[in-house]
Amino acid sequence: MARILITSALPYINGIKHLGTLIGSQLPADLYARYNRAKGNEVLFLCATDEHGTPAELAAAKAGKPVAEYCTEMHATQSKLAEGFRLSFDHYGRSSSKQNRELTQDFAAALAENGFIDEVSEKMVYSNADSRFLPDRYIEGTCPNCGYDKARGDQCENCTKQLDPTDLINPRSAISGSTDLEVRETKHLYLKQSALKDDLDAWIDSKADWPILTTSIAKKWLHDGDGLQDRGITRDLDWGVPVQKGREPWPGMEGKVFYVWFDAPIEYIGCAAEWAEAKGLGDEAWQRWWRTDKGAEDVRYVQFMGKDNVPFHTLSFPATIMGSREPWKLVDYIKSFNYLNYDGGQFSTSQGRGVFMDAALEILPSDYWRWWLLSHAPESSDSEFTWENFQAGVNKDLADVLGNFVSRVTKFCRSKFGEVVPDGGAWGEAEEAVLNDIEARVKTYEALMEAMEVRKASQELRAIWVAGNEYLQAAAPWSVFKTDPEAAAAQVRFALNLAVIYAGLSSPFIPDAAEKLRETFALQVIDWPEDIRAAMAETLKPGHAFAVPDVLFAKITDDQRDEWQARFAGQ
Ligand SMILES: [Zn+2]
Repeated sequence: MARILITSALPYINGIKHLGTLIGSQLPADLYARYNRAKGNEVLFLCATDEHGTPAELAAAKAGKPVAEYCTEMHATQSKLAEGFRLSFDHYGRSSSKQNRELTQDFAAALAENGFIDEVSEKMVYSNADSRFLPDRYIEGTCPNCGYDKARGDQCENCTKQLDPTDLINPRSAISGSTDLEVRETKHLYLKQSALKDDLDAWIDSKADWPILTTSIAKKWLHDGDGLQDRGITRDLDWGVPVQKGREPWPGMEGKVFYVWFDAPIEYIGCAAEWAEAKGLGDEAWQRWWRTDKGAEDVRYVQFMGKDNVPFHTLSFPATIMGSREPWKLVDYIKSFNYLNYDGGQFSTSQGRGVFMDAALEILPSDYWRWWLLSHAPESSDSEFTWENFQAGVNKDLADVLGNFVSRVTKFCRSKFGEVVPDGGAWGEAEEAVLNDIEARVKTYEALMEAMEVRKASQELRAIWVAGNEYLQAAAPWSVFKTDPEAAAAQVRFALNLAVIYAGLSSPFIPDAAEKLRETFALQVIDWPEDIRAAMAETLKPGHAFAVPDVLFAKITDDQRDEWQARFAGQ
């Protein structure tokens, strides 16, 4: 039994995510976690909300709530949606947890101890009225380029010009509107990534099995221009992990917090500690996943993320771990994704364009989305959601192939033999040929799932479903029954057992349908079919009662498709 640690990139706390975010990390991570559990491996699957930083403060201010309260509410909302999509996290944590706070402070202390932290003085804008330093985007003024009077200190959203706060004409605080601003000296901590460049380079070189897309992004950051830059890891904000050296104060850093990009990946570890606490387990329970001196030596650690997150996971977070000189687990494999676009453009929160996780579950069950998104995962290139394509995928794959197969065989059985697996007859050459075909395909399917080739795995699974439909079509027990009821009984028994095999093989993609089939056939569990022939012969024996299920997958009508296309088109 292998031990697999799986993390999904942490969704940011400020709002409900769209389907592009879902397929960019959480959903394929869930597929991999479910597959490995089904194969009997020991899995710890973690995700959490990324809660610190300026955008959370701004979103909370917009909602008229204290930021901590806002984050607690949004975490509950995101947790509920994750459950709705059947994301099987062992723990869905929060980067604002006590565990992450202490780990972040401990990492900073270790990095400082080892000489990887610089204290640097900088000039920043201070608001006397607000009694605080203002991050660039908290400063508003008139754009020197286009004259727009609500340009932000980092960028003018009217003409998109990148700005420095000192470029703005008539600058004012975005919090209070005060123009009583001054430039003051302030001290910040920098992580000396440049000093860890050779360590990182050697580590990336050792990853011969990583996709070129991943290693080339890392190499570019390591070597282009002046090479890997040191990185500011503190901010003048209230909301975040307070800067401390472990449990001790950090002289000169009072009132500052760690930058969200420093503490967020540490939450992968913090989340494991939260999980252990939630389960009532001791520290050794999570440390055996994360500390190579405490049992994590045999853990395989796989991270899932969008391609924009790759530099932080190949360089910044590993630099934090390596610089600590402590025996933490480093990632073994990174599975990264391109982007999912929406109907000829992009998803847009501000324009309400595209399907977001809450609206998706209002209109259809999660399996429909899971199947389409996973079978169209943006792996080798960006992919696109269109309503025509979604309708076709759901109707053709789920309704016409898998749903139709289950419906035909269970209904025919009920009409001729009752809701019970029929006795009589024996399987012959036709059944043998189907078994050979399916055995070979399941081997391919498993290899693709191991390799996290999500789209190809979905195609192989679909081909396994198709094999059953074609068998039923060719065997035609409804015709055979007229002359040879015993032979028809054997065919029906074969197809019913195939439906159970399908439930096991399909469970990582469409867990609700798999569960419905388990109930249909009144089985305690449906295991992964390690031995197809044994499972076919021993699972549903003659006399085993079942109940014909309701429609497994309803087709999406043209009217529904048109209505939803209009509803989600945005302003
Ligand atoms: Zn402008």
